[in-house]
Amino acid sequence: MSDSRRFADSGATLGDFEKHFVVHCPRCEGKALVRADDHRLTCLACFHTENPGRWYGAARLVVRRKCPECGVQGMSVFETDRIVPQISVKCDNCGDERNYATSVTPLPFSQGWKTDPVFGCRLWLQTNFREHLLWAYNYEHLAYLRNFVQAKLRERGIEPRNTIRKNSSMISRLPVFLKKAGYRDELTVLIDNLEKK
Ligand SMILES: [Zn+2]
Ligand SMILES: [Zn+2]
Repeated sequence: MSDSRRFADSGATLGDFEKHFVVHCPRCEGKALVRADDHRLTCLACFHTENPGRWYGAARLVVRRKCPECGVQGMSVFETDRIVPQISVKCDNCGDERNYATSVTPLPFSQGWKTDPVFGCRLWLQTNFREHLLWAYNYEHLAYLRNFVQAKLRERGIEPRNTIRKNSSMISRLPVFLKKAGYRDELTVLIDNLEKK
């Protein structure tokens, strides 16, 4: 069958697209690349480079504490747009307020946008679609999503070596809205625009 819009699931997983990430530069907001091998960021606009170590994205901060005044133990959880090493917490029991060290968990979204897993910078290739967010780590990932959205026929890959990976295959885990035939034309236009970014 020669239908070029036929989509054979190659068994790709999201991990296959995590080779590099196209992001907004933390310095100038221009287009920057984060490589997955050495985790280095290079801005194509201002030529800023950065080694990993800083997290620009959102984070969940947890404070576990025993109040030094009354001895009551407690735990507080905050979600913030940036990491802060200490945070002020008030004791529910006695009202004592002081700074406590936080334990930090990076979050994959910041202010409604998907961020890269190395620096937490906002992904370059993303856009709102209805109540959803369409995002891709890089142009290869975007091309993969385009093929999926445009395919008239979708079938699972039957290449023998893919069988082991079938269960973790990305298609089964793609957001449901990408699979809706009624959204195909709208999504194609959005992906076209992202490809030109
Ligand atoms: Zn820059
Ligand atoms: Zn207390």
